[in-house]
Amino acid sequence: MELWYTEEHTENVRFSIKVKEHLYTAKSPFQTIDFFSSEEFGTFFTLDGLMMVNEKDEFIYHDMITHVAMATNPYVKKALVIGGGDGGTVRELTRYPGIETIDMVEIDEMVVRASQKYLPLTASQLDNHRVNLYFEDGIRFIHGKKKEYDLILVDSTDPIGPGEGLFSKAFYQDCFNALTDTGILINQHESPYYDRDVREMKRAHNKLKELFPISKVYQFHMPTYPSGYWLFGFASKTLDPLKDHQREAWEELGLDTKYYNSDLHQGCFSLPSFVKNMLEE
Ligand code: SAM
Repeated sequence: MELWYTEEHTENVRFSIKVKEHLYTAKSPFQTIDFFSSEEFGTFFTLDGLMMVNEKDEFIYHDMITHVAMATNPYVKKALVIGGGDGGTVRELTRYPGIETIDMVEIDEMVVRASQKYLPLTASQLDNHRVNLYFEDGIRFIHGKKKEYDLILVDSTDPIGPGEGLFSKAFYQDCFNALTDTGILINQHESPYYDRDVREMKRAHNKLKELFPISKVYQFHMPTYPSGYWLFGFASKTLDPLKDHQREAWEELGLDTKYYNSDLHQGCFSLPSFVKNMLEE
């Protein structure tokens, strides 16, 4: 008998992966967590039936959430990851020797513990001595903080369930307050393709545009997310990811990255016309 994992990308579109083994299932107080093994994508995990991370394409997401900001400000000392329970974003941040402190606030400790067991390479740096783990709601954690972080990476689920508030204007305002003057916020910006994702993309962008003097959007290719076409938002009080791009300083670090590179840094902000138009609406 064949076992398939199927995710509804829209009411009319489904995406399926042939499963070798259903490794783990649990209901946490926040969501349903599942881990599977597969031939094509290796081990992958889902929350409430939505793909989060898999061994094959996680490098794309984690490179792009981290290195675009770090190549704009390679002098980040204190970083905050909100969500990101699989550990991939923290792993990329720990590759920068200049970062002194990485706080990670994940609402669901069960995601972290299961990732450490089933995705050990992704979660490999969660016990790094520079990393502090907080198991609480990121929305509450950030509230009231003032100019504390040089970088905030919002590695969240979609705007449903516990991740919903991570797309609110009040949360973005709290991030603004928690950032230093050269601080950078990277957030999930959903996708410009299917209607539901477009709605969330526009909502996130309009809120960020109102708060941050610099608010841009960049794209990357994510084979297992709906439509395969995904976006992050880059927001800052002062740094522009293109004008302030520190190409040489970043290249001197000698990091070997599988997706990100300096040419892509410039290119990923060049958006197709239909996306530009939607973001301006
Ligand atoms: N790369 C993934 C994606 O876009 O599909 C994101 C994966 S990461 C595992 C998302 C994490 O955000 C989840 O583990 C979830 O528990 C966490 N999360 C959701 N809402 C949160 C909140 N309000 N505070 C902190 N963490 C939250």
